[in-house]
Amino acid sequence: RSKKQGGNCYHFYSPSMNEESKETASLLYSLHSALERNEFEIYYQPKVNIESCEVIGTEALIRWNHPQFGIVSPEKFIPLAETSGLILNIGEWVLRNACRQTKKWQEMGFPHLSIAVNLTTRQLYQSTIDDIIRRILAETQLDPRYLELELTESVIIQNSAIEKMHKLKNLGLSIAIDDFGTGYSSLRYLKDFPIDNLKIDQSFVQSSKLDPKIKAIISTVINLARQLNLNVTAEGVESEEELVYLKSQFCYTMQGFYFSRPLPAEDLTKLLQSKESRLYRLLKEWSFH
Ligand code: C2E
Ligand code: MG
Ligand code: MG
Ligand code: MG
Repeated sequence: RSKKQGGNCYHFYSPSMNEESKETASLLYSLHSALERNEFEIYYQPKVNIESCEVIGTEALIRWNHPQFGIVSPEKFIPLAETSGLILNIGEWVLRNACRQTKKWQEMGFPHLSIAVNLTTRQLYQSTIDDIIRRILAETQLDPRYLELELTESVIIQNSAIEKMHKLKNLGLSIAIDDFGTGYSSLRYLKDFPIDNLKIDQSFVQSSKLDPKIKAIISTVINLARQLNLNVTAEGVESEEELVYLKSQFCYTMQGFYFSRPLPAEDLTKLLQSKESRLYRLLKEWSFH
């Protein structure tokens, strides 16, 4: 991609590149040093249970504070990190920091707060992934039962996924299928794979706006999960209407802008500590319904 042109002058652009691929090349270039430059930050989005009225955990969502481009979405740079292999170091950084932060919150008075961390294909197939996670758990002293790994269907579609997942489960953590229903779901996975939680993709939850077909899908997934003894989490809950429908189907674990956007650690600490916040008011309100 880069071509040395004498001296220490590197060229990343060729005249034929369009604006988008120029941006991609430039992002990829700066991605190499983003970790050492401390440009990543983890945001945490609360996951709530509207029956017990609690924040039960958070999901770690990485942000890249790019010196020129501002905040870059993970939708943009995670694929670059994945193809370049940089995801291995970045992913380990996320795991370590998310576990460390969660341990802090637990010690601060939220002893049962869990953390969910997203894993890509490369991360799962990294031969030492179980050692890496074991080391991080030991280092941070986080009880493994409070760690959940989120894998999408495209990650678990590979051949040896099931063995990998068993190895990880042996550490005592749990596994969620993320964006459930958007990939090449095979119901066989639900039978054979050591899965603890299904996360219903936000595209279903949000178009649940009373579309009878989507409602049928959502309620079927919720029932399926219940009968297979899996937890189910609805992602991307943005409105009261969506909440009401999910609740009517006995889905109580939710995540979405309606409750809170992903927040920097400090802001999440404040949110957890202020029982007067909009989030806790909402939770209290819903417990009376
Ligand atoms: P995901 O794991 O499915 O995360 C959910 C995404 O939906 C997040 O986007 C979150 O901010 C967004 N979201 C949450 N609630 C709502 C809502 O009510 N409405 C809408 N419209 N969106 C909502 P984000 O943070 O941009 O992350 C996008 C994806 O990037 C994630 O999807 C995940 O696949 C990936 N990602 C993020 N952080 C990491 C990471 O640390 N490691 C890896 N491997 N992937 C990550
Ligand atoms: Mg996720
Ligand atoms: Mg998701
Ligand atoms: Mg997603």
